Amino acid sequence: MKKSGKRIIYLAFSLLICLLFVMVVYQVHRSLRTAETIERPWNLCLVNRDYAVPAGYHPPLLTLSNGQKVDERIYPDLQAMFDAARREGFDLHVASGYRTKQQQKEILYARIKEYRKQGYGTKQATAEAESYVALPDHSEHQLGLAIDIQIKGNTNADALYRWLEIHAHEYGFIQRYPKEKTDITGFSYERWHYRYVGKEDAKTIFQRDLTLEEYLLH
Ligand SMILES: [Zn+2]
Repeated sequence: MKKSGKRIIYLAFSLLICLLFVMVVYQVHRSLRTAETIERPWNLCLVNRDYAVPAGYHPPLLTLSNGQKVDERIYPDLQAMFDAARREGFDLHVASGYRTKQQQKEILYARIKEYRKQGYGTKQATAEAESYVALPDHSEHQLGLAIDIQIKGNTNADALYRWLEIHAHEYGFIQRYPKEKTDITGFSYERWHYRYVGKEDAKTIFQRDLTLEEYLLH
């Protein structure tokens, strides 16, 4: 009797260990799956004030004729968009494409210096600069998926930016920092800054009038 009692306790204990083991395996499996689903494809990588460029991220780069670089995977759509804009008479170019972390740092410091020259105090100059220029590792330009578009001579700039607002999504680009959504994006209105997400996602984002933050996080 005493012996069988011990056996039952032993059996129950073994069962409990097995059950715990199964539960641990299940939880680990589940968390791995969750991590997998959160990981987004390259074209939907979110970089903003809260989300940094993934560690060790090195996009495949292509150099444009003016020396600017972009992720080579966006090039066919970028070229198609520029061809279409040129057919409309706009003499546009990529003023800034891919940037390294160091370049981003230099741009930010230069902008702060500019505001200091205009008479702003250090704190105010920094805040002003940071409303336009992202901190190093928090700029989409480091992904090679963001482009600042400019027009030669700037004479037709308003018309170009209006055209881009309407047509960029047809080529997979979204206007990244719209005027009415600065509280969501954390950036001042930048009518020149476009971000590649791919045609399908760009169409949905455009039609629903969303920011990338709203599209991906809500
Ligand atoms: Zn930009």
